Amino acid sequence: MSELDPGSLVDGRYRVISRLGAGGMADVFLAEDEQLGRKVALKLLHRRFAEDPGFVERFRREAHAAASLQHPNVVQVYDRGGYDGIYYIAMEYLGGRTLKQLIRAEAPLEPLRAIDLTMQILAATRFAHRRGVIHRDLKPHNVIVDDSDGAKVTDFGIARAGASDMTETGSIMGTAQYLSPEQAQGHVVSERSDLYSIGVILYELLTGRVPFDADSAVTIALKHVAEAPVPPREINPDVPVPLEQLVLWALNKNPADRPADADELMRVLGQVREAVAAGSAGQMTAKMAAIGAGAGAVGTAVAVPTALVPGGATALTTPPPTEPPLRGEVLPHEGPPPEERGRNPWPWIALLLVLVLAGGGLAAYLLSRPAQVKVPDVVGYQLLVAQADVENAGFKPYVVNATSAEPSGQVVHQDPTGSAAKGSTVTLTVSSGPRSVSIPTVAQLPRQQAERALRQAGLKVVSVFSVSSSTVPAGNAVRTSPAAGVSVPAGTSVTLYVSSGPAPIAVPNVVGDTEAAAKAQLTAAGFKVTTTQKSTTNSSQVGNVVQQTPSGGKAPPGSTVALVIASAPSRVKVPNVTGDTARAATRQLTAAGFKVVKQRQAVSGQNHNGIVISQSPSPGSTQKRGSTVTIVVGKYHKPSTTTTTTTTTTTTTPTTPTVTTPTTPSG
Ligand code: ATP
Ligand code: MG
Repeated sequence: MSELDPGSLVDGRYRVISRLGAGGMADVFLAEDEQLGRKVALKLLHRRFAEDPGFVERFRREAHAAASLQHPNVVQVYDRGGYDGIYYIAMEYLGGRTLKQLIRAEAPLEPLRAIDLTMQILAATRFAHRRGVIHRDLKPHNVIVDDSDGAKVTDFGIARAGASDMTETGSIMGTAQYLSPEQAQGHVVSERSDLYSIGVILYELLTGRVPFDADSAVTIALKHVAEAPVPPREINPDVPVPLEQLVLWALNKNPADRPADADELMRVLGQVREAVAAGSAGQMTAKMAAIGAGAGAVGTAVAVPTALVPGGATALTTPPPTEPPLRGEVLPHEGPPPEERGRNPWPWIALLLVLVLAGGGLAAYLLSRPAQVKVPDVVGYQLLVAQADVENAGFKPYVVNATSAEPSGQVVHQDPTGSAAKGSTVTLTVSSGPRSVSIPTVAQLPRQQAERALRQAGLKVVSVFSVSSSTVPAGNAVRTSPAAGVSVPAGTSVTLYVSSGPAPIAVPNVVGDTEAAAKAQLTAAGFKVTTTQKSTTNSSQVGNVVQQTPSGGKAPPGSTVALVIASAPSRVKVPNVTGDTARAATRQLTAAGFKVVKQRQAVSGQNHNGIVISQSPSPGSTQKRGSTVTIVVGKYHKPSTTTTTTTTTTTTTPTTPTVTTPTTPSG
């Protein structure tokens, strides 16, 4: 029926994970809020309702009211909107089962357990009623229960399919079983309509059956209006009498005969609980039976436990209207409801009974209006302290558990605050420790985005480690510890592992290998290779690797290894440097790629001093780059006597200067 597949993105924000269920008006999906990185239950209104502008308007308005309800027993509404002609509500996702599933599996429940579940529904309902929100569709399908019987009510104030839809089968049928008579007739809905529905739920918890059932929604509605419920003890004799009476009290056809408000029902239920827990329900029964008995005949609805209900002494004993009207057949809203018309003398009898008892302490209790007293503010206290404070101030503490970020055992919420009737019940919501959150998947996200997603899921990122990864780019998240999908208490510390890129691998040493072999080996290992040439005079090295960087150790795959390959030297022409100064000759030869060796030779001519007289190999010949050129440089020697000197200009062998010895005549 739904057009949404897992993976679809709703309103650019909610990624559908799976389908949780469907009701009469909507499909519900588990989805990931990609903005906040948390799971939500996404309720998508069926299109046929979306086409009714009046309905959409109510849906919007009422979802708005519900969104402001924040209570441990109320499923939190986060967001609502329209998208592509579909209206949706995003709300707190709860992993537990619905109360309906619990009933199917386990009802009838122990009375105390049934009371404790009902108390939580009442706490949520009282809270909403005080803020002007009537649920209108309280039923076990709209209560989600966790493993420790913590209950949360969902769908507060959401627009309902009206009674006109009741001819349809399906989930409206489910709704009809919990609908109050006034709703079934299309009359004005009040807070007491919700109390009736809670009465039906408690009835079902205690007996495993709904009080009114039939094959069609219309028949069920007729029974709500006209038939008396089978008293719970006829189905389950283990139900304590006062508890049975309380159920029947809430199931009165006439709203005026039911508890005045959720607070009153809670208070009485709290008293019944105490009596049941203390094993003294029998005494309580005796007290209540004095009045209740006269009205308790099967076949009539009963207004019970009058002993506990100030001013609640009217017993409703209505002959069923032959054809109770449904919506469409408009009834006058002014004046008494139809069942009060032509009433028999029962109310008078009941009133008489009250008057008869008025002399006793019971009547005193009935008539005394409890004083308003300040309720101590105990939020943040340990439960034992809070309970003592509340009791000392004259109230009855009632304890409800809820997950919270606060330490287990601490009171996180109380209701009411301010002042309340002395003796009334104060609900203390006690933390059972942090809620659990599922670790989001952050793999592949850039580190900052991953950290943000973890924090938004309610986790702490305490350490970030680098790990190598061949699949995740450097700087992105690889994994977390604990791993994605693991359920942990909110506030848990998480370690984030960020990729430092691929792991370094060993660099093979290829010095001495041929260029081709070296390249093949390095490429196969996953490296890139660059080469440069370096000439060598050692001909056995030519074509081989003589140097590499890095030459060993480890390096990231894909990085570059630089090789130096020995190459045969090239040949160059020897420049002519004969006649140049030794210095200039050396410079020119070096620049041409030669090594220079100097030899000295004595010369007699001063002008040859420091001048290259000869060079070898001869100028103009081609020689290997890097080979040696020898230059012979003239060195002038002064003759030792006065003499005439001749200078040889080009000699390759050292020569003695020609010395002319002067001849001296004898005489
Ligand atoms: P109705 O349409 O009358 O409200 P319903 O309550 O059975 O009937 P939905 O409210 O649409 O139907 O819910 C359908 C199902 O989705 C529920 O039975 C429940 O299993 C699941 N569901 C609803 N809300 C949540 C939630 N907040 N967290 C987890 N599951 C939910
Ligand atoms: Mg629902």
